Amino acid sequence: MSVDYTSSSGHHGKAAKRNLPKAILRGLRHRCPQCGTGSVFARYLKIADICGHCGEELHHHQADDAPPYFTIFIVGHIIIPLVFLVETTWHPAMWIHMVTWLPLAVLLTLTLLPMVKGAVVGLQWALRMHGFEYSALCTPKSPAQGR
Ligand SMILES: [Zn+2]
Repeated sequence: MSVDYTSSSGHHGKAAKRNLPKAILRGLRHRCPQCGTGSVFARYLKIADICGHCGEELHHHQADDAPPYFTIFIVGHIIIPLVFLVETTWHPAMWIHMVTWLPLAVLLTLTLLPMVKGAVVGLQWALRMHGFEYSALCTPKSPAQGR
């Protein structure tokens, strides 16, 4: 049975369900949630307007503050227990804490932030949030027109 996505009234029909875990995992790997091949990023944290491989519109995302929030949450839950463990076990000098945990926290944050942002975009895409609702069903338009 074929599905007609456009009716005569101009409304879209029910769209196919998207795989949420797969889209999140692809985002974690910085990949497009639709094809898993193209990059979801144009630059370090700048989401590409469209996927360079499959052309899926990615500019619909509204990740906003969610990626930094989740990243701070994750980094804090990794670093703080380690700080307490090292302090209670070996009692190192304060300068050793400073040269260990500060760079580690920065490195972890800069590594996790794009992964988490990709995952959030994947989640929004899979749940058809914001403009992702009909993006795969509509005729592609230039990103500048979509704003
Ligand atoms: Zn793609």
